[in-house]
Amino acid sequence: MLDHYDRDINYLRVSITDRCNLRCTYCRPKEGISLKGHADILRYEEILRVVSQTVKMGLIKVRLTGGEPLVRRGFVEFAGNLKKIKGLQDISLTTNGILLAQYAEDIFRAGITRINISLDSLDKEKYFQITRGGNLDDVFNGIAAAEKAGFAPIKINTVLMKGFNDNEALDFARLAFSKPFQVRFIEIMPVSEVSAGRSADFLPTRQLLETINRHFRLEPLAGKKNKSDGPARLYKMKDGLGEIGFINPVSDHFCSTCNRLRLTADGKLRACLLNDVEIDLREALSRHCDDDELAGLIREAILLKPQRHDLDCTDRHLKKCHRDMSDIGG
Ligand code: SAM
Repeated sequence: MLDHYDRDINYLRVSITDRCNLRCTYCRPKEGISLKGHADILRYEEILRVVSQTVKMGLIKVRLTGGEPLVRRGFVEFAGNLKKIKGLQDISLTTNGILLAQYAEDIFRAGITRINISLDSLDKEKYFQITRGGNLDDVFNGIAAAEKAGFAPIKINTVLMKGFNDNEALDFARLAFSKPFQVRFIEIMPVSEVSAGRSADFLPTRQLLETINRHFRLEPLAGKKNKSDGPARLYKMKDGLGEIGFINPVSDHFCSTCNRLRLTADGKLRACLLNDVEIDLREALSRHCDDDELAGLIREAILLKPQRHDLDCTDRHLKKCHRDMSDIGG
């Protein structure tokens, strides 16, 4: 599935719901967003059809996201059905971890073995604040359940915000030192109205690298492993169990190697997180289009993939997308 710039598009992020049990301040408006009804989002069978068709065209990796994917009823059974698609080599999950203690074992048994857990603070009060009500203990219980179930690697994704959690960099590094986790620091992106006004929070991850390096010996991980871990620049910690990663979509974008498509909960195929061009699959699926038509729409989305995003962290009023991140799935 080559696009116009010779990138092999073989990775699909699927948002299975726009609903979330948290309201992270940079991701979702305080008042919530208009929640779509069942009729407005793709049925599981429709998602399975899109994935099967895309696998026939060259897709090998799927990541399930949301909203919060674990709030959608029937998730475990759906994951099991996804696993049955021949040719799909890798299924992973991105979750805030709140419901993970309840589901970790079943999800693992269903065949999802790779998991990313979003966690922006290790401080109970700050976690409550940034998530507008989340309980940090739930996430820790979720992480423990994921470890017990056998997930490996467990990746912890931390969005960096200047003056909010940059002073926790060493605490996160200690976590990666003592546990076999990959902690990845991600630059905040001015995606929609919610986050666009927050460029004062922007902190290039390279500053953290220097701070952490003063306390732990970081050794860059080169080659294959780095490639298989997507856009993160990874470091091993000398004598530590885990790894540290830096994802810099703003200060050092990785568009030239971007291999992703995104399917939104309401059935739109997006070729770039930061570009509002979308192809409507739901309309075609709802009238039971044939496979050729579906394949044509998927190909159209791939050919619309822009060469790169034009995000610039210095523009404080930037508003890139009509959708919030929680609506696209990250
Ligand atoms: N609920 C799931 C979770 O928490 O991982 C999946 C959806 S969430 C939208 C996916 C990821 O996007 C989270 O790690 C979140 O922190 C990240 N995210 C949301 N808004 C962002 C922004 N403006 N910049 C960078 N990352 C963002």
